[in-house]
This record gives sequence, C-alpha cells and structure tokens, in this order.
Amino acid sequence: MKAMVLNRPGEALVWTDLPDRTPAAGEIRVRVTACGVCRTDLHVLDGELPDMIYPIIPGHEIVGRIDRLGEGVDGLRLGERVGIPWLGHTCEYCPYCVEQRENLCDHPLFTGYTRDGGFATSVIADARFAFPLGEEGSDVALAPLLCAGLIGWRSLCLTGQPDGRTGKRLGLYGFGAAAHIIAQVAHSEGRDVYAFTQAGDKATQAFALSLGAVWAGGSDELPPEPLDSAIIFAPVGALVPLALKAVRKGGRVVCAGIHMSDIPSMPYRLLWEERQLVSVANLTRQDGLDFLPLAQKIGITTKTTTYALTQANQALSDLRAGRFDGAAVLVP
Ligand SMILES: [Zn+2]
Ligand SMILES: [Zn+2]
Repeated sequence: MKAMVLNRPGEALVWTDLPDRTPAAGEIRVRVTACGVCRTDLHVLDGELPDMIYPIIPGHEIVGRIDRLGEGVDGLRLGERVGIPWLGHTCEYCPYCVEQRENLCDHPLFTGYTRDGGFATSVIADARFAFPLGEEGSDVALAPLLCAGLIGWRSLCLTGQPDGRTGKRLGLYGFGAAAHIIAQVAHSEGRDVYAFTQAGDKATQAFALSLGAVWAGGSDELPPEPLDSAIIFAPVGALVPLALKAVRKGGRVVCAGIHMSDIPSMPYRLLWEERQLVSVANLTRQDGLDFLPLAQKIGITTKTTTYALTQANQALSDLRAGRFDGAAVLVP
C-alpha cells in the first residue's frame, strides 16, 4: 500500500510505500476510492490535538470497498462499498458507552488521529464502525458526508427542533464543508439559514445564498433578526461572543469544532437570559444511521474539489487558505 504519512507535526506529508496490512479479528481492510479533507486534518498536521502519535496517516472521511474481511466479521461482504468515519473504535464498557453516549468514550480510537486513516490506498478499520453506503451517489460526493456531514448533523440536532419554541432561525458561522451540507438539511427542515463568513468574503456569501440561505454577511455583522440558534464551524474563539450576541433570549450556540483559538473575555450579559453555549464532540454510530439515509432522501449535493492522493499537501494548504468552496476530496 501507499500513503501520505505525517512523520512529525508541522511537516509536509510524505508519499510512502508501506507493507500491505492484514485485518485482525473484527476488522476489515478497505481499498480507498475517495477520502475527504477536513479541518481536523489541519489540527492533526499542526500538532494541535492532545495525545498525538507519529507517524500517522491522516484522513477520516473515507469511502472505499472491502477487499479483505477479518475473522468474525459479519453483516459486511467483500466488495461492499463502505464509509469509514472519525469514530474508529470504542470500548463498549465505560460509563459513556453504556449510556449510549459512545461519542464521549473514555478509551476511543479516532480514524486519522489515533489510528491510521484514509490518505492512503488502503485502510484497516474496526468493522463495527463502517457504514454500508449502498451504490447510489459517487464516491467523491459521499466522502464529505462522513465527517463534515455527520458532525454538522450532530451539531444541528443540538440546536433543537425547528418547532417555533426552539426555533427556525439558524446562524452558521464559517461556511465551509460542514455548513454547505447542513445548510441544505436545515433548509429542507423549513429553517431559515443565516450564513456568516469572513468580513467581505462575497464569493462565499453568494455560495451560501445559492444553497438556500436567507441572509449572508460578515461574522462581524449582526443578522437582521435575532437568531434562535447558531453553530460555529470556524475554529475561531472570537466568534463565540459574536454568536451569543446574535441569538435571542434562551437561544443556543453550538461549537462544532474539535479545536478553537482561545475565547476572548466577554461580559456576562452576553450569556445572561438563559442563552446556552455547548460543544459537540465526535459522533455516534446512531448519528450515521440517522443522517446518511436522510442525506440521500433529501438529495444533498456536495460541492467538491478533487485532488490526486499525492497532492494531499496542496489540498491541505488550499483548505487553510480557503481557496475552494465546499470540500476537498483526495482520490488515490
Ligand atoms: Zn467507552
Ligand atoms: Zn473531520
């Protein structure tokens, strides 16, 4: 197999020949056909996450086909198309696993972070965490659903239902891969999406409006009406007080990222009146079982820019610089 390997934080990924791997009991080997590039990959690259191990193969939005089954795997077959998400393994015995909150497992493994991921021609995965994807939709179009879509979906669920009490007006701060998917879900639920981009980024604002947003502007602006809830996708702590300022009394702000720059000091009155500030961590398998069929049903279209696997460094630097709308996907 070949892979783009991160040997040390801050270095470029290196195209590397590795011995083929064999799945252990309960694992599958997947021939990768597409792997999305996520902002979390930049945090891995920059060494911003705790307990990193090196060398590591990043990538956790994997689409591919099973080419080898480990012992004792059932419910999956050779040649089947599957998606491998960020959550790569849980212990099934810690209090969080027992309470059906496996996203908070005390002993987890995460694909492309603490176990090797999909910036490779082949990947080994725990079979329990592979989602069968069926045959509808292209590999490239599906890849961004595996993290941007799933984490976005979990964040959207945490904002509450669009039922009038918890609200219809949803703000999205940072309009990249996740927001461009979740804007479509929110639109299909009858919510009004307000898209916030970097000040003056007219191109991304136009992109948001084309996906059904009712308003788009800079994150330094206040929306024309107070929001019921907001999701912050950009890894920028300074957005927290801005989003709290934009939501109504009792409104909720959800931080979707795994890492954020520091949140600046802010007056208590921004949180006062029962505004809530929460974060989202990881995903559960149930999130995938809920979201992936829904994405198909409402016909989400992902905007993708494809790169050859060997161009992973270029894709990462384009993501960092915001050089494309939607999501980048690597193709081996
Ligand atoms: Zn656990
Ligand atoms: Zn991700």
